[in-house]
Amino acid sequence: MILVCGGAGYIGSHTVYELIDRGEEVIIVDNFQTGHRGALHPKAKLYDGDIRDKDFLDKVFGENNIDAVIHFAANSLVGDSMESPLKYYDNNLYGTLVLLKAMNRHGVKKIVFSSTAAVYGEPENIPIVETDKTEPTNPYGETKLAMEKMFKWADTAHDIKYISLRYFNVAGAHESGEIGEDHNPETHLIPLILQVPLGKRDFISIFGENYDTTDGTCIRDYIHITDLADAHILAVEKLRKDKISSIYNLGNGEGFSVKEMIEASRSVTGHPIPARISERRPGDPAKLIASSERAKKELGWKPKFTSVEDIIKSAWKWHQNKPKGFEA
Ligand code: UDP
Repeated sequence: MILVCGGAGYIGSHTVYELIDRGEEVIIVDNFQTGHRGALHPKAKLYDGDIRDKDFLDKVFGENNIDAVIHFAANSLVGDSMESPLKYYDNNLYGTLVLLKAMNRHGVKKIVFSSTAAVYGEPENIPIVETDKTEPTNPYGETKLAMEKMFKWADTAHDIKYISLRYFNVAGAHESGEIGEDHNPETHLIPLILQVPLGKRDFISIFGENYDTTDGTCIRDYIHITDLADAHILAVEKLRKDKISSIYNLGNGEGFSVKEMIEASRSVTGHPIPARISERRPGDPAKLIASSERAKKELGWKPKFTSVEDIIKSAWKWHQNKPKGFEA
């Protein structure tokens, strides 16, 4: 039985769908701060509560025979973290501390958790490998890095094995078009671009055109949500089999600028999508591209969505199906 913390969120809900497809029994913990009831899988058992609540976690672990945890319950926005750093330390770092203590009390020895490319800060090498320097440029990345270090010491002392997955830019939706990305407020590039052809905004803002990149706009490595969900399942299987802690980057190994993403979205949607240049967003590194060779080699991870057009098409299908997201 797998406990998914944050199983009503964007990445959590897609992972729950994949887990249940593969016959796993799933328990979801979510406080619905950012998650959606509409994203819950009907076959998963829900505990509505907060990972910072020790008694609540004791009930969840006490009532279920949990063998592994997949942990998504966190705040994850660079810009927001610059404005409210303490919220990130509280929910991300303190929340994970309470969770780890509960795992230790209940003898649960395996955890897969969401880390991020933001742990690297401005990269020294492209593509980025897991052994590269980690110097976050924002509190979001800083809390995720601190979480990784907490896991390392909890492994040494308490034998809790962890796999940390450092995601690059996640996008797209489940093939059914029934679940997808729905943040309020939305801050991510692809859903914001698609709001233009959906008639919800008049133009997309490009945050900075004077970065040291080919066209001056930030370059990111986009990965499809289903490929990301698959990596979590492979990570649980690896922990069950090898019982070795590890850290993996997850991206497609190819970078696209903000302008290229807008152009690709124009071609997918057939809409002109007007764009305007605005100020840089504080905390954004210029270029993030992953080497995911380690995940491919050690986890046997094989991403299926390797073209950004296909990733955008998948997001477009969801947004056309549910233009108002889960509220509809
Ligand atoms: N971005 C942009 N306009 C927007 C939203 C995002 O130019 O309206 C840029 C942002 O500055 C970054 C890239 O798009 O360089 C991806 O941002 P997103 O928030 O999607 O993901 P992040 O890289 O922060 O995880």
